[in-house]
Amino acid sequence: MTAKVHIIGAGLAGLAAALRLAPGSRQIFIHEAASQAGGRCRSYFDSTLGMVIDNGNHLLLSGNRAAHAFLREVGTEAQLVGPKTAEFAFVDLATGARWRLRPNEGPIPWWILLPSRRVPDTKIGEYLRPLALLFARKSTRIEDAMECSGPLYERLWQPFFLAALNTEPKQGEASLAAALLRETLMKGGRACHPLVAAEGLSAAFIEPALRRLAAQNAVLKFGHRLNSIAFAQNRAISLDFGGETVVLDADDQIILAVPPTVAAALVPGLSAPQTFRAIVNAHFKIASPVNLPAVTGVTNGLIEWLFSFPDRLSITISGADRLLDIPREELAEKIWRDVAQVTQIAEPLPAWQIIKEKRATFAATPEEECRRPATRTAFSNLVLAGDWTATGLPATIEGAVRSGFRAAAEILQPHRNAEDAGASRQRS
Ligand SMILES: Cc1cc2nc3c(=O)[nH]c(=O)nc-3n(C[C@H](O)[C@H](O)[C@H](O)COP(=O)(O)OP(=O)(O)OC[C@H]3O[C@@H](n4cnc5c(N)ncnc54)[C@H](O)[C@@H]3O)c2cc1C
Repeated sequence: MTAKVHIIGAGLAGLAAALRLAPGSRQIFIHEAASQAGGRCRSYFDSTLGMVIDNGNHLLLSGNRAAHAFLREVGTEAQLVGPKTAEFAFVDLATGARWRLRPNEGPIPWWILLPSRRVPDTKIGEYLRPLALLFARKSTRIEDAMECSGPLYERLWQPFFLAALNTEPKQGEASLAAALLRETLMKGGRACHPLVAAEGLSAAFIEPALRRLAAQNAVLKFGHRLNSIAFAQNRAISLDFGGETVVLDADDQIILAVPPTVAAALVPGLSAPQTFRAIVNAHFKIASPVNLPAVTGVTNGLIEWLFSFPDRLSITISGADRLLDIPREELAEKIWRDVAQVTQIAEPLPAWQIIKEKRATFAATPEEECRRPATRTAFSNLVLAGDWTATGLPATIEGAVRSGFRAAAEILQPHRNAEDAGASRQRS
């Protein structure tokens, strides 16, 4: 009988796992509770704006190797667009200062010596401060590992870490910030080109993955919510989808790629993050001014990142829990004031949409980092995937895809992975 893999959740983690497993000999089933795939990374038609937009603006970097591998596998890597170098435009709304941060491509960071490439009014020593994060013990807050004040902190480290951690950086886990540094700036500008999915997240990531999986005979079931898992001894024996029970054969496996609160309710004794942070996105239906960069960082304002698309301007505010109770109209007006200042557009509020994702990511604090579980569980035929598992990265596309690839590797080569894990435990 053909062994089956049941993947629960068709977000990026579940899809990444499926892409790696579908070419093999196992029969793949993907069960998704919603009526569409993509989870927190998807596009939809917004009837207020009359256009397709993403649930949230997603910024990737050229150094996100797993995300790029995913896109290569589904044939849409070219849909990620951005400058051919590491270049970030910034505006400081308090002073009106504008600058471009331009790390050089190679790993030796000579760009910090050149005022034309670095942040104005900053000293070279300030650029070295985050190196302290590399030596911080686990469960250390960023503010306990590096000095979190001064012009460079406000104009670079704070926005950089806030965007990636979706958590006020001072409270953030130092090892996650260190991982970001290692995978981006320490590799040089070539790992830091800012990239966006020009035709939308679903067109780049989700739809081509679904097409590929369907062509490889994976079975996709939408509106198929997993309600409970029955366990006997150390394995899962059946899956209850409410009215339909799937009994698992001896060789069948499960990849649980659902959000952490759902996973914790399904798996007894599972440790998972318990607190979350919001992200607010606003979209304005207006043509982008010519020459406005694709992405602009904003400091000392309400908005943090401005994304320019041909038919709209969109903004992101991370760690945005403080904004959740502000009435939407009031928030739209406030946000538009910032957008108008950055873009120098002198027009009243255009048609807008605001999307508040209350549980956008888990809080990247030391407390929550400790709760992130490994891919393997105590149950022999159940592995985990999701941006909240112990990827060593914050909750990002890169982390989600890596977790999915890792879950697939656990199923394809469980013994090898167990040996790798043992070896790395011995090394540490
Ligand atoms: C507004 C916003 C902005 C973001 N910006 C960025 C960014 O700029 N850069 C970046 O890299 N990352 C960003 N992220 C993070 C990124 O979107 C996530 O890390 C990634 O999408 C998580 O994928 P996942 O598969 O782990 O989880 P999810 O996308 O949450 O997938 C889980 C899936 O499981 C399904 N499910 C839940 N319960 C069940 C059940 N019982 N049975 C079956 N299915 C179930 C859900 O419907 C969902 O489809 C952002 C996220 C948000 C929300």
